[in-house]
Amino acid sequence: MQFISFSSGSSGNCYLLRSDGGMILIDAGLSPRKVKQYFSNYGLSVSDVDAILITHDHTDHIKGAGLLAEECRCPVYTTQAVHEGMGRNYCMTHKVPASQRYFVEKEVPFRLGDFTVTPFDVPHDSSDCVGYEIQCGDAVFTLITDVGHVTDRISKAVSRANYLVLEANHDLAMLKMGPYPAYLKGRISGERGHLSNEVGARLVAESATPALRHLWLCHLSEENNHPELARKTYEQVLSEYGIKGGVDFSLTVLKRLVPSEMYDL
Ligand SMILES: [Zn+2]
Ligand SMILES: [Zn+2]
Repeated sequence: MQFISFSSGSSGNCYLLRSDGGMILIDAGLSPRKVKQYFSNYGLSVSDVDAILITHDHTDHIKGAGLLAEECRCPVYTTQAVHEGMGRNYCMTHKVPASQRYFVEKEVPFRLGDFTVTPFDVPHDSSDCVGYEIQCGDAVFTLITDVGHVTDRISKAVSRANYLVLEANHDLAMLKMGPYPAYLKGRISGERGHLSNEVGARLVAESATPALRHLWLCHLSEENNHPELARKTYEQVLSEYGIKGGVDFSLTVLKRLVPSEMYDL
């Protein structure tokens, strides 16, 4: 498998997972123009995308979904509630054509080429939100973003992952001291908001196994986090558990606006 993060955070989220047998986009929070540009930079073509998976119906995850679906001529998979939410979201001017809407059920695996995809529940203040466990051969790639709090199911997903993309939205102290109004601070740190560095790091420390090979931190806040702080927090918490982040597994902080390298998994 190969993995690329095109963009990660409140300005837009879009990730690519590729194998010999297929290509999946996860979230479509970028304009198709940008996605096409990024694809060509890697020598790829959007016409080769087999499916788009959507985590939830917040604009930073869906704003390009309608046009991208038409460009890629591929199905768009998510839960019924998220499809309905996308239908209502007026920031999404171009809707996913009805014929390209495919519905997934949480905990019901489905096949996409040589990928087996299992959606699972993630608590967040959207119409609905899912993470995806994607198995290809023996390897499990898991993406969990926009996470209000850690559930048993999320811990289980972390424990099964060989490759994990996990939200590291904010540093709690930066959020508290930062410029956001009180209601927004409450929303972000609430049960259906976003995952902090500290809570995410403890989740990985307690649930990940030696089978984890690479951890990518995603969806960093521009105002309430810093890439070096996220990395340091992870390294510090992991070290309390005798785990060396960056040694026992690779640890990468994804950039908000700049595409990553293409990682060979
Ligand atoms: Zn988001
Ligand atoms: Zn969200």
